[in-house]
Amino acid sequence: MTNDTIIHAERELYLTLLALVQQQPSAYKWLSLLPEWLNQIKDKRNYAHAPAYQAAVARLPNISVDNVALDSGTLTIEATLSDSERKQTIALLQQMMPWRKGPFQIGSSQIGSSEGEPIEIDTEWRSDWKWQRVAPHLGNLKGRRVLDVGGGSGYHGWRMAGAGADCVIIVDPSCLFYHQFMAIRHFIGTADDYRTHYIPVPLEALPEHSQLFDTVFSMGVLYHRQSPFEHLQQLKGQLVKGGELVLETLVIDGDANTVLVPHDRYAQMNNVYFLPSVSALMGWLAKAGFSEIRCVDVAVTSIDEQRKTDWMTYHSLADFLDPNDPTKTCEGYPAPKRATLIAKK
Ligand code: SAH
Repeated sequence: MTNDTIIHAERELYLTLLALVQQQPSAYKWLSLLPEWLNQIKDKRNYAHAPAYQAAVARLPNISVDNVALDSGTLTIEATLSDSERKQTIALLQQMMPWRKGPFQIGSSQIGSSEGEPIEIDTEWRSDWKWQRVAPHLGNLKGRRVLDVGGGSGYHGWRMAGAGADCVIIVDPSCLFYHQFMAIRHFIGTADDYRTHYIPVPLEALPEHSQLFDTVFSMGVLYHRQSPFEHLQQLKGQLVKGGELVLETLVIDGDANTVLVPHDRYAQMNNVYFLPSVSALMGWLAKAGFSEIRCVDVAVTSIDEQRKTDWMTYHSLADFLDPNDPTKTCEGYPAPKRATLIAKK
């Protein structure tokens, strides 16, 4: 089945990179690698679910959208859906469960409207809470070129565009999240002026030292990396000189020499490596060559921010904490606490 939404997104990504090459010759490498990057995600030998997700995106109905709010907590696509369009959309979006990062709303919430209730994708994470903690501390995103590393379903990427960014590129190797992004993009359509793009690859696949971005975000990724310094160097390589890094990651209490490396699992995750204290993390950033390093927020993750919902029915944070002491994970480590740091290249 042809997939107009994905074909269109790919075309816009090519055109964006093509325009970028005129300004920044280093974008040429991106352009030459793009076919390979986009083909990989279609290869069912690597991504068994890709054909099913693609088919689901292809079958989403073409509805008429009245308005899109990229700057509201619940990313809202106001549209009029018939009953059958609504049912079809819900069924297709459910084929792309679990929905972890959001929330999103599609439909009309006009009081007194004769149409059905809007579709509310109540995701595992209240990603809007993270954005609320981070956004007040960012330099103005207006006119900036932004990279969101590990951007998940794209929720924050859309918010970055909503905050005025000229161009947002999300990179994330998750096949599921890539297709969730495409499903949302299907409905957002022209309302974003095609400023938000998604390349389904990890940061390490990008050409090093591209120096293409005014702001680079890495949120919720560093603790998944086995080599945190490599990650910081790779982030730095994507920034223009003077550009801004926004780094959000799990931290623990302690001094400049405190770092936790979980023995086995951490909050049931089997891919968690380095959890530094805030001052250790500031030291890492300085060692990696960043300056003007500041910690703008520290927050314990609550079971209201990360929880099981109708759209993510597996276990969630409440199941990963010690039932007798919620300040600890079930493995006995400090419960998840996250810090946001901002630094300059
Ligand atoms: N940034 C979002 C999502 C965090 S979840 C947020 O803060 O809410 C972590 C994401 O990082 C996942 O979607 C995962 O696929 C992605 N990821 C893991 N390793 C990565 C890498 N090396 N490069 C880019 N993304 C990566």
